Amino acid sequence: MAKAANQFEDPNFTPITYDPQYLLQVNGLKKYFPIKSGMISRTVGYVKAVDGVTFNLKRGTTMGLVGESGCGKTTTGRTILRLYDTKTAGQVLFNGQEVYDLSPKEMRAMRTKMQIIFQDPFSSLQPRMPIGEIIGEAVREHNLVSKEEFDDYIDQVMDNCGLQPFHKDRYPHEFSGGQRQRICIARALALNPDFVVCDEPVSALDVSIQAQIINLLNDIQEKYKLTYLFISHDLSVVEHISDQVGVMYLGNLVEYGATEDIFRNPLHPYTKALFSAIPVPDPTVKMNRIVLEGSIPSPANPPKGCKFHTRCANCMECCKEVEPEQKEIEPGHFVVCHLYDN
Ligand code: SF4
Repeated sequence: MAKAANQFEDPNFTPITYDPQYLLQVNGLKKYFPIKSGMISRTVGYVKAVDGVTFNLKRGTTMGLVGESGCGKTTTGRTILRLYDTKTAGQVLFNGQEVYDLSPKEMRAMRTKMQIIFQDPFSSLQPRMPIGEIIGEAVREHNLVSKEEFDDYIDQVMDNCGLQPFHKDRYPHEFSGGQRQRICIARALALNPDFVVCDEPVSALDVSIQAQIINLLNDIQEKYKLTYLFISHDLSVVEHISDQVGVMYLGNLVEYGATEDIFRNPLHPYTKALFSAIPVPDPTVKMNRIVLEGSIPSPANPPKGCKFHTRCANCMECCKEVEPEQKEIEPGHFVVCHLYDN
Protein backbone atom coordinates (compact mmCIF):
# COMPACT_ATOMS: atom_id res chain seq x y z
CA MET A 1 0.00 0.00 0.00
CA ALA A 2 1.40 3.40 -0.99
CA LYS A 3 1.75 5.85 1.89
CA ALA A 4 2.54 9.56 1.80
CA ALA A 5 5.94 10.53 3.13
CA ASN A 6 4.73 12.67 6.02
CA GLN A 7 7.88 14.75 6.41
CA PHE A 8 6.85 16.55 3.21
CA GLU A 9 3.33 17.26 4.39
CA ASP A 10 2.46 20.89 5.07
CA PRO A 11 2.30 21.52 8.88
CA ASN A 12 -1.11 23.17 8.32
CA PHE A 13 -2.41 20.26 6.24
CA THR A 14 -5.98 19.32 7.17
CA PRO A 15 -7.32 16.06 5.72
CA ILE A 16 -10.70 16.29 4.01
CA THR A 17 -13.57 13.82 3.96
CA TYR A 18 -15.78 12.71 1.08
CA ASP A 19 -18.24 15.24 -0.27
CA PRO A 20 -20.65 13.36 -2.63
CA GLN A 21 -21.17 16.34 -4.96
CA TYR A 22 -17.56 15.92 -6.13
CA LEU A 23 -16.20 13.06 -8.22
CA LEU A 24 -12.63 14.18 -7.53
CA GLN A 25 -11.24 15.93 -4.46
CA VAL A 26 -7.57 16.88 -4.49
CA ASN A 27 -6.14 18.24 -1.24
CA GLY A 28 -2.58 19.51 -0.72
CA LEU A 29 -1.26 17.14 -3.40
CA LYS A 30 2.52 17.03 -3.78
CA LYS A 31 4.72 15.07 -6.13
CA TYR A 32 8.48 15.46 -5.71
CA PHE A 33 11.08 13.63 -7.78
CA PRO A 34 14.39 12.90 -6.02
CA ILE A 35 17.61 14.26 -7.52
CA LYS A 36 20.30 11.56 -7.19
CA SER A 37 24.03 12.17 -7.23
CA GLY A 38 27.33 10.40 -6.56
CA MET A 39 28.47 6.76 -6.62
CA ILE A 40 25.77 5.55 -4.26
CA SER A 41 23.02 7.65 -5.83
CA ARG A 42 22.42 9.74 -2.74
CA THR A 43 19.34 11.96 -2.80
CA VAL A 44 20.66 15.53 -2.86
CA GLY A 45 17.41 17.36 -3.46
CA TYR A 46 13.95 17.19 -5.00
CA VAL A 47 12.26 18.53 -8.10
CA LYS A 48 9.01 19.85 -6.66
CA ALA A 49 6.86 19.24 -9.75
CA VAL A 50 3.55 19.42 -7.85
CA ASP A 51 3.76 21.31 -4.59
CA GLY A 52 0.45 21.54 -2.76
CA VAL A 53 -2.43 21.47 -5.27
CA THR A 54 -5.99 21.69 -3.90
CA PHE A 55 -9.26 21.66 -5.88
CA ASN A 56 -12.60 19.86 -6.18
CA LEU A 57 -14.24 18.69 -9.38
CA LYS A 58 -18.00 18.15 -9.70
CA ARG A 59 -19.43 15.22 -11.64
CA GLY A 60 -20.04 15.81 -15.34
CA THR A 61 -18.00 19.04 -15.43
CA THR A 62 -14.65 20.06 -16.91
CA MET A 63 -11.77 21.71 -15.15
CA GLY A 64 -9.19 23.38 -17.38
CA LEU A 65 -5.62 23.44 -16.08
CA VAL A 66 -3.41 26.13 -17.61
CA GLY A 67 0.11 27.47 -17.13
CA GLU A 68 3.51 27.72 -18.80
CA SER A 69 5.44 24.62 -19.89
CA GLY A 70 7.04 22.92 -16.91
CA CYS A 71 4.57 24.33 -14.35
CA GLY A 72 3.40 20.84 -13.31
CA LYS A 73 0.09 20.48 -15.19
CA THR A 74 0.85 17.09 -16.69
CA THR A 75 2.45 15.76 -13.49
CA THR A 76 -0.68 16.81 -11.58
CA GLY A 77 -2.87 14.82 -14.00
CA ARG A 78 -0.62 11.78 -13.85
CA THR A 79 -0.35 11.87 -10.06
CA ILE A 80 -4.15 12.02 -9.76
CA LEU A 81 -4.40 8.93 -12.02
CA ARG A 82 -1.72 7.14 -9.96
CA LEU A 83 0.48 6.68 -12.99
CA TYR A 84 3.36 7.06 -10.53
CA ASP A 85 3.82 4.48 -7.78
CA THR A 86 3.65 7.06 -5.04
CA LYS A 87 2.57 10.60 -4.30
CA THR A 88 4.70 12.68 -1.95
CA ALA A 89 1.91 14.11 0.21
CA GLY A 90 -1.74 15.15 0.20
CA GLN A 91 -4.97 13.40 -0.78
CA VAL A 92 -6.58 12.26 -4.04
CA LEU A 93 -10.16 11.20 -3.33
CA PHE A 94 -11.94 9.64 -6.30
CA ASN A 95 -15.57 8.96 -5.44
CA GLY A 96 -14.48 9.30 -1.84
CA GLN A 97 -11.74 6.65 -2.09
CA GLU A 98 -8.10 7.56 -1.57
CA VAL A 99 -6.55 6.42 -4.85
CA TYR A 100 -3.17 5.68 -3.26
CA ASP A 101 -4.75 3.44 -0.60
CA LEU A 102 -6.19 1.00 -3.15
CA SER A 103 -4.70 -2.48 -3.42
CA PRO A 104 -3.29 -3.51 -6.85
CA LYS A 105 -6.51 -5.47 -7.51
CA GLU A 106 -8.73 -2.54 -6.54
CA MET A 107 -6.56 -0.18 -8.58
CA ARG A 108 -6.90 -2.43 -11.62
CA ALA A 109 -10.68 -2.13 -11.40
CA MET A 110 -10.40 1.62 -10.81
CA ARG A 111 -8.28 2.02 -13.98
CA THR A 112 -11.35 1.55 -16.16
CA LYS A 113 -13.01 4.51 -14.41
CA MET A 114 -10.02 6.87 -14.82
CA GLN A 115 -8.61 7.29 -18.31
CA ILE A 116 -6.15 9.57 -20.08
CA ILE A 117 -5.92 10.97 -23.61
CA PHE A 118 -2.38 12.00 -24.56
CA GLN A 119 -1.11 14.92 -26.61
CA ASP A 120 0.58 12.88 -29.31
CA PRO A 121 -1.90 10.32 -30.65
CA PHE A 122 0.69 8.63 -32.87
CA SER A 123 3.22 7.69 -30.19
CA SER A 124 0.45 6.51 -27.85
CA LEU A 125 -0.85 3.96 -30.39
CA GLN A 126 0.81 0.57 -30.92
CA PRO A 127 1.91 0.80 -34.61
CA ARG A 128 1.61 -2.94 -35.34
CA MET A 129 -1.92 -3.37 -34.05
CA PRO A 130 -5.09 -2.79 -36.11
CA ILE A 131 -7.23 -0.18 -34.44
CA GLY A 132 -10.06 -2.59 -33.65
CA GLU A 133 -7.54 -4.44 -31.47
CA ILE A 134 -6.19 -1.22 -29.97
CA ILE A 135 -9.66 -0.07 -28.94
CA GLY A 136 -10.78 -3.52 -27.78
CA GLU A 137 -7.63 -4.74 -26.01
CA ALA A 138 -8.46 -3.37 -22.56
CA VAL A 139 -12.18 -4.16 -22.99
CA ARG A 140 -11.20 -7.84 -23.34
CA GLU A 141 -8.65 -7.60 -20.54
CA HIS A 142 -11.27 -6.27 -18.10
CA ASN A 143 -14.09 -8.53 -19.42
CA LEU A 144 -16.37 -5.55 -19.86
CA VAL A 145 -18.63 -7.22 -22.43
CA SER A 146 -19.30 -10.82 -23.45
CA LYS A 147 -17.59 -12.39 -26.50
CA GLU A 148 -20.85 -12.30 -28.43
CA GLU A 149 -21.37 -8.59 -27.80
CA PHE A 150 -17.73 -7.57 -28.32
CA ASP A 151 -17.79 -6.68 -32.04
CA ASP A 152 -21.03 -4.70 -31.81
CA TYR A 153 -19.76 -2.89 -28.73
CA ILE A 154 -16.51 -1.81 -30.45
CA ASP A 155 -18.49 -0.73 -33.57
CA GLN A 156 -20.74 1.38 -31.36
CA VAL A 157 -17.82 3.05 -29.54
CA MET A 158 -16.10 3.77 -32.87
CA ASP A 159 -19.30 5.20 -34.30
CA ASN A 160 -19.66 7.49 -31.26
CA CYS A 161 -16.17 8.80 -31.99
CA GLY A 162 -16.78 9.36 -35.73
CA LEU A 163 -14.97 6.21 -36.93
CA GLN A 164 -16.38 3.67 -39.40
CA PRO A 165 -16.53 -0.13 -38.81
CA PHE A 166 -14.20 -0.77 -41.80
CA HIS A 167 -11.48 1.25 -40.02
CA LYS A 168 -11.10 -1.63 -37.56
CA ASP A 169 -8.62 -3.55 -39.71
CA ARG A 170 -6.44 -0.56 -40.54
CA TYR A 171 -3.24 0.47 -38.78
CA PRO A 172 -2.48 3.80 -37.03
CA HIS A 173 -0.18 5.04 -39.82
CA GLU A 174 -3.11 4.90 -42.26
CA PHE A 175 -4.95 7.66 -40.39
CA SER A 176 -4.62 11.44 -40.19
CA GLY A 177 -3.70 13.18 -36.91
CA GLY A 178 -7.32 14.04 -36.15
CA GLN A 179 -8.51 10.47 -36.81
CA ARG A 180 -5.71 9.09 -34.64
CA GLN A 181 -6.90 11.30 -31.79
CA ARG A 182 -10.42 9.92 -32.37
CA ILE A 183 -8.94 6.41 -31.99
CA CYS A 184 -7.34 7.44 -28.68
CA ILE A 185 -10.65 8.87 -27.48
CA ALA A 186 -12.46 5.67 -28.55
CA ARG A 187 -9.89 3.56 -26.68
CA ALA A 188 -10.52 5.58 -23.49
CA LEU A 189 -14.31 5.63 -23.99
CA ALA A 190 -14.50 1.86 -24.58
CA LEU A 191 -13.70 1.29 -20.90
CA ASN A 192 -16.78 3.29 -19.87
CA PRO A 193 -14.85 5.72 -17.66
CA ASP A 194 -16.24 8.37 -15.29
CA PHE A 195 -13.18 10.61 -15.43
CA VAL A 196 -10.76 11.45 -18.25
CA VAL A 197 -7.55 13.46 -18.08
CA CYS A 198 -7.20 15.16 -21.46
CA ASP A 199 -3.50 16.07 -21.62
CA GLU A 200 -3.13 18.69 -24.37
CA PRO A 201 -5.38 16.56 -26.64
CA VAL A 202 -5.53 19.08 -29.50
CA SER A 203 -2.13 20.80 -29.27
CA ALA A 204 -0.56 18.63 -31.96
CA LEU A 205 -3.48 19.08 -34.42
CA ASP A 206 -4.25 21.63 -37.13
CA VAL A 207 -6.60 24.41 -36.00
CA SER A 208 -9.45 23.17 -38.24
CA ILE A 209 -9.19 19.67 -36.75
CA GLN A 210 -8.92 21.00 -33.18
CA ALA A 211 -12.52 22.25 -33.31
CA GLN A 212 -13.78 18.83 -34.44
CA ILE A 213 -12.01 17.05 -31.58
CA ILE A 214 -13.22 19.62 -29.02
CA ASN A 215 -16.79 19.16 -30.29
CA LEU A 216 -16.39 15.37 -30.07
CA LEU A 217 -15.15 15.66 -26.47
CA ASN A 218 -18.14 17.89 -25.65
CA ASP A 219 -20.60 15.47 -27.30
CA ILE A 220 -19.33 12.37 -25.52
CA GLN A 221 -19.17 14.24 -22.22
CA GLU A 222 -22.85 15.02 -22.52
CA LYS A 223 -23.79 11.53 -23.67
CA TYR A 224 -21.72 9.60 -21.10
CA LYS A 225 -21.78 12.19 -18.26
CA LEU A 226 -17.99 12.28 -18.22
CA THR A 227 -15.85 14.47 -15.98
CA TYR A 228 -12.72 15.98 -17.55
CA LEU A 229 -9.47 17.45 -16.34
CA PHE A 230 -8.45 19.35 -19.47
CA ILE A 231 -4.76 20.29 -19.53
CA SER A 232 -3.79 22.90 -22.09
CA HIS A 233 -1.70 25.99 -22.68
CA ASP A 234 -4.30 27.31 -25.16
CA LEU A 235 -6.48 29.67 -23.13
CA SER A 236 -9.13 30.09 -25.85
CA VAL A 237 -9.70 26.33 -25.98
CA VAL A 238 -9.81 26.13 -22.18
CA GLU A 239 -12.34 28.97 -21.99
CA HIS A 240 -14.52 27.18 -24.55
CA ILE A 241 -14.54 23.74 -22.95
CA SER A 242 -14.16 24.33 -19.19
CA ASP A 243 -16.66 24.93 -16.39
CA GLN A 244 -13.87 25.91 -14.05
CA VAL A 245 -10.25 26.86 -14.58
CA GLY A 246 -7.11 26.36 -12.49
CA VAL A 247 -3.93 28.35 -13.14
CA MET A 248 -0.65 26.67 -12.20
CA TYR A 249 2.73 28.24 -11.56
CA LEU A 250 5.80 26.27 -10.48
CA GLY A 251 3.86 23.36 -9.02
CA ASN A 252 1.21 25.47 -7.27
CA LEU A 253 -2.39 26.20 -8.17
CA VAL A 254 -2.27 30.00 -7.80
CA GLU A 255 -5.91 30.66 -8.77
CA TYR A 256 -8.99 28.65 -9.53
CA GLY A 257 -12.70 29.19 -9.93
CA ALA A 258 -15.59 29.21 -12.42
CA THR A 259 -14.40 29.91 -15.98
CA GLU A 260 -16.50 33.05 -16.25
CA ASP A 261 -15.12 34.47 -12.99
CA ILE A 262 -11.51 33.71 -13.89
CA PHE A 263 -11.72 35.21 -17.39
CA ARG A 264 -13.89 38.19 -16.30
CA ASN A 265 -11.98 38.98 -13.16
CA PRO A 266 -8.50 37.40 -12.99
CA LEU A 267 -7.01 38.19 -9.58
CA HIS A 268 -3.52 36.72 -9.37
CA PRO A 269 -0.77 38.81 -11.06
CA TYR A 270 0.37 35.69 -12.94
CA THR A 271 -3.15 34.98 -14.24
CA LYS A 272 -3.44 38.61 -15.36
CA ALA A 273 -0.15 38.35 -17.27
CA LEU A 274 -1.16 35.04 -18.86
CA PHE A 275 -4.57 36.34 -19.95
CA SER A 276 -3.17 39.63 -21.26
CA ALA A 277 -1.47 37.60 -24.02
CA ILE A 278 -4.77 36.26 -25.44
CA PRO A 279 -5.16 37.74 -28.95
CA VAL A 280 -8.29 39.87 -29.45
CA PRO A 281 -9.92 39.38 -32.90
CA ASP A 282 -10.56 43.12 -33.27
CA PRO A 283 -7.83 45.36 -34.75
CA THR A 284 -9.33 48.48 -33.10
CA VAL A 285 -8.84 47.07 -29.58
CA LYS A 286 -5.45 47.93 -28.10
CA MET A 287 -3.87 45.01 -26.25
CA ASN A 288 -2.37 45.81 -22.84
CA ARG A 289 0.01 42.93 -22.71
CA ILE A 290 1.81 42.35 -19.41
CA VAL A 291 5.28 41.01 -20.21
CA LEU A 292 6.79 38.94 -17.42
CA GLU A 293 10.44 39.62 -16.70
CA GLY A 294 12.87 36.72 -16.27
CA SER A 295 12.27 33.03 -16.75
CA ILE A 296 10.43 30.51 -14.64
CA PRO A 297 12.69 29.44 -11.70
CA SER A 298 13.79 25.82 -11.31
CA PRO A 299 11.30 23.59 -9.48
CA ALA A 300 14.36 21.98 -7.85
CA ASN A 301 15.18 25.28 -6.16
CA PRO A 302 12.00 27.39 -6.00
CA PRO A 303 12.17 30.90 -4.48
CA LYS A 304 11.28 31.34 -0.80
CA GLY A 305 7.93 32.92 0.09
CA CYS A 306 5.66 33.37 -2.92
CA LYS A 307 7.21 31.40 -5.78
CA PHE A 308 6.14 34.09 -8.23
CA HIS A 309 7.83 36.97 -6.39
CA THR A 310 10.93 36.98 -8.65
CA ARG A 311 8.73 37.95 -11.61
CA CYS A 312 5.87 39.82 -10.00
CA ALA A 313 5.44 43.57 -10.58
CA ASN A 314 3.34 43.79 -7.37
CA CYS A 315 5.90 42.08 -5.14
CA MET A 316 5.93 43.33 -1.51
CA GLU A 317 8.45 42.60 1.24
CA CYS A 318 6.24 39.93 2.83
CA CYS A 319 6.07 38.08 -0.53
CA LYS A 320 9.80 37.31 -0.34
CA GLU A 321 9.50 35.57 3.03
CA VAL A 322 5.98 34.27 3.64
CA GLU A 323 4.21 31.77 1.44
CA PRO A 324 0.65 33.03 0.72
CA GLU A 325 -2.33 30.81 1.56
CA GLN A 326 -5.33 29.99 -0.60
CA LYS A 327 -8.24 32.40 0.01
CA GLU A 328 -11.81 32.42 -1.34
CA ILE A 329 -12.35 35.94 -2.70
CA GLU A 330 -15.84 35.44 -4.14
CA PRO A 331 -17.92 32.24 -3.89
CA GLY A 332 -15.91 29.45 -5.52
CA HIS A 333 -13.10 31.81 -6.69
CA PHE A 334 -9.80 31.04 -4.92
CA VAL A 335 -6.45 32.85 -5.15
CA VAL A 336 -3.05 32.41 -3.53
CA CYS A 337 -1.58 35.92 -3.19
CA HIS A 338 -0.74 38.38 -0.40
CA LEU A 339 -2.55 41.18 -2.26
CA TYR A 340 -5.80 39.66 -0.97
CA ASP A 341 -4.73 39.07 2.64
CA ASN A 342 -7.27 41.61 3.91
FE1 SF4 B 1 2.97 38.95 -6.38
FE2 SF4 B 1 3.20 38.94 -3.74
FE3 SF4 B 1 0.97 38.09 -4.88
FE4 SF4 B 1 3.19 36.65 -5.05
S1 SF4 B 1 2.05 37.11 -3.21
S2 SF4 B 1 1.78 37.12 -6.69
S3 SF4 B 1 4.72 38.25 -5.23
S4 SF4 B 1 1.80 40.17 -4.94
